[in-house]
Amino acid sequence: MPADAPASDDTPPDAPAAEPVDRMDQIVNLAKRRGFVFPSAEIYGGFRSTYDYGPIGVLLLRNVKDAWWRSMVQLRDDVVGLDAAILSPPAVWEASGHLSNFTDPLVDCRHCGARHRSDDIPDPDVCPTCGSRGTFTEARQFNLMFKTHAGPVEEDAAVAYLRPETAQGIFVNFANVLQASRKKPPFGIAQIGKSFRNEITPGNFIFRTREFEQMEMEFFVPPDEAHRWFEYWCDERRRWYVDLGIDPAHLRLREHATDELSHYSAGTSDVEYLFPWGWGELEGVANRGCYDLTQHAEASGERLDYFDQATNTRYVPHVIEPAAGATRTMMAFLLDAYDEEEVRGETRTVLRLHHRLAPYKVAILPLSKKETLTPMAREVLGLLQPHFMCDYDETQAIGRRYRRQDELGTPFCVTVDFDSLDDRAVTVRERDSMDQVRVSVDELVDHLREQLA
Ligand code: ATP
Repeated sequence: MPADAPASDDTPPDAPAAEPVDRMDQIVNLAKRRGFVFPSAEIYGGFRSTYDYGPIGVLLLRNVKDAWWRSMVQLRDDVVGLDAAILSPPAVWEASGHLSNFTDPLVDCRHCGARHRSDDIPDPDVCPTCGSRGTFTEARQFNLMFKTHAGPVEEDAAVAYLRPETAQGIFVNFANVLQASRKKPPFGIAQIGKSFRNEITPGNFIFRTREFEQMEMEFFVPPDEAHRWFEYWCDERRRWYVDLGIDPAHLRLREHATDELSHYSAGTSDVEYLFPWGWGELEGVANRGCYDLTQHAEASGERLDYFDQATNTRYVPHVIEPAAGATRTMMAFLLDAYDEEEVRGETRTVLRLHHRLAPYKVAILPLSKKETLTPMAREVLGLLQPHFMCDYDETQAIGRRYRRQDELGTPFCVTVDFDSLDDRAVTVRERDSMDQVRVSVDELVDHLREQLA
């Protein structure tokens, strides 16, 4: 079988840059050009560090979240789901400790006026913006929560916060879920959704934004089992990234030092990814002890514990929390999948995404735009759409269309050509090897299902 379409009608859609460019620039460019991620409100000059997910990005992000949900909820019988409100009253954040503790140390440079998070700069004495030494103001604690008002009157009684993490929505629903689901510890409650943090220094594309999506699970366990479950979830969560194609050499588990621990944590390990600028957190696995349930029980006056009939004892469960960022994780998957290779003297850019994450699973490409091929190509599209997320493209030369699908990470391209009209077969091209096989239309769904399994 030919390795790929003839080179004669096949020039890469976007010529490779003459100078070697930074991997982040490549990802940001690809994201914009192919519709993964756009700067938000771009026609008005953009809104700093806020991004919109385009036609391809919305599929990739959804697949990341679906893969998490599948692994954390669907394939388990000890975890249930929840979707709690984003707006919440101050009482929640007072009890959780966020109103007093969810802060970052903020410094201003007296020389250039730049603001920095003092625990996030290489030398706490040197301004990374202007290079001045000893020009920082005293650090002051800056609360990261977004405050707003619910209702038409801006008064203190109507203060509300946008949640800075999804976890608290889980804790305040502990008793409801326990009662409704009839689960008993060890069991978990999982949630995916938006969180908001007024970050001092957002940046690195979608790594750190003020609005982002999290995938969090609170796993409630008998206190004497907490350590065992903490280790279990550290291993499970690291494995999840590897199973979805991240190179294990680009992942590590890093234990927090005692002075680094959050106000609630009895122990935390981060799953970190080797980003182009160095190691960065993808997910924190924390042993939150009984902190949250105890705090909310005290503040609300409600009972947030568990009565174990077997042992006739009542206890406040301890909590192990794997907390991941969906948008940040999507960026890691993009970076790790990005590859460039030489094909017949030209650079082919390909996203070697795991099949489960690929935005489109199949692209249907009639070989030419000749009207004779369109009806059959559309018939094939109709056949595949109920089973797979498909793209359909009849513009441009076939080679350019293959290259576009490579850049989107589409695992299979199905080409309908003139022979297809006679033999009712199509050519299926695989993304990574570029190998092509001829498959009968009658067997196409089964063939692709097998390949995509
Ligand atoms: P960081 O140290 O990077 O500020 P964190 O330790 O405060 O993160 P957690 O509170 O543990 O983060 O949140 C869990 C996950 O949510 C993080 O591992 C990350 O993937 C994601 N996350 C947190 N803040 C942001 C943000 N501003 N933008 C995008 N993702 C974020």
